[in-house]
Amino acid sequence: MHEMIVAQYLLAQITDEAVKQNARPVAAKISCGKLNAVNDEVLCFAFEAIAKDTLCRDVKLEIEHKPLQAKCKDCNQIFNVEFSKPQCKKCESRDFELLPDAPLILEEIEFQTEKNHEKNKN
Ligand SMILES: [Zn+2]
Repeated sequence: MHEMIVAQYLLAQITDEAVKQNARPVAAKISCGKLNAVNDEVLCFAFEAIAKDTLCRDVKLEIEHKPLQAKCKDCNQIFNVEFSKPQCKKCESRDFELLPDAPLILEEIEFQTEKNHEKNKN
């Protein structure tokens, strides 16, 4: 299962950073390309399952899907591909080359702050 591998990778990355910062992670933002076959729900479920007994147990994942980009062969414009209208945004040429799909990246980890901590106590 692809999502399980991704979840394990994320858990390892977030745990590393949490240990380094000596803080408790509460959220993580990740991004990946549109063609990257990651199902948000399956990924969140897989992550919860493996994180539940770790210091990452409260982490909420937020997943952003980046649009697929292409480069026009006529005018060199780089544009986001819309599957309903696959053509250059500038010159409307349909002769373009797809750029590699965005990789899966862990963009940001949010740690519990003193303020959050107070809120959780009440
Ligand atoms: Zn063009």
